[in-house]
Amino acid sequence: MSVFAQVERVVTNVTLSSIEGFIIDLDGTVYRGKRPIAGAVEAIAELKRQGKKTAFLSNRGNISRKMCKDKLSAMGLDVLEEEILLSSTVTANYLRTFYKHSQVWTLGDAGLLEELAAAGLTLADKPESADWLVITLHETLTYKELNEAFRAVRSGARIIATNADKTFPGDEGDSIDVAGMIGAIVASTGKEVEVVIGKPSAVMAEAALNVLGLPPSSCLVIGDSLASDIQLGKQAGMRTALVLTGSAKREEAKASEWQPDWIWESLADVTQAAAFAAETEAAK
Ligand SMILES: [Mg+2]
Repeated sequence: MSVFAQVERVVTNVTLSSIEGFIIDLDGTVYRGKRPIAGAVEAIAELKRQGKKTAFLSNRGNISRKMCKDKLSAMGLDVLEEEILLSSTVTANYLRTFYKHSQVWTLGDAGLLEELAAAGLTLADKPESADWLVITLHETLTYKELNEAFRAVRSGARIIATNADKTFPGDEGDSIDVAGMIGAIVASTGKEVEVVIGKPSAVMAEAALNVLGLPPSSCLVIGDSLASDIQLGKQAGMRTALVLTGSAKREEAKASEWQPDWIWESLADVTQAAAFAAETEAAK
């Protein structure tokens, strides 16, 4: 563990021993693009070995839980589909809960369609029939698809987005995210996005807490983004740990209005911090 991590740990009054549930971000925390971040897979396996509950909470809306589970499996990490909560999953559940009988049109990759189908939602047969346009990341976007989404909104469809992130860490560095797809539709139709589901929304926090079946006070959010992960955790009354393997730098964390309880070099630090907490408790 780094010297910095030890310093951070000493200055906080919180110990990890009271934490039963770990809500873990994926992009920039567990993996970057197709590659796992060093030590992340082992750290998660160790948490599971200790009997801790885990949930994986990602703003990715263009993949399904099955696709995500397969990706994690290929990295040597076996998790249950039920432990995975993507913004596509939570968006589909939101529409099922509040707009069950509406017809949906999508601007996004196939994973979103899988999650909408899993939630039992009806897809509109043409853009003009849609009640909602769901926007997510679309990595093979064509003009035709963009224009169909435009037609849906022109004909009265309301806009919901899985998330509104500007960029995500891709294989070739930062890549354009859902904000780019939203921008095209909003700019061309003059209509605004009515609902954004992704982190830091309370909807995402609640979904994760439901999966864990624990109160916020027993949960820790671990992620690389101050604006999505740390803010979500703070607003929901959970502990938070920022990892420096993704979007945020240590200096940004110091200056942020969302102060994490811990700052770790990587997710691997969680197991050392947990062991330290257990020793501290035992010594009392
Ligand atoms: Mg992230």
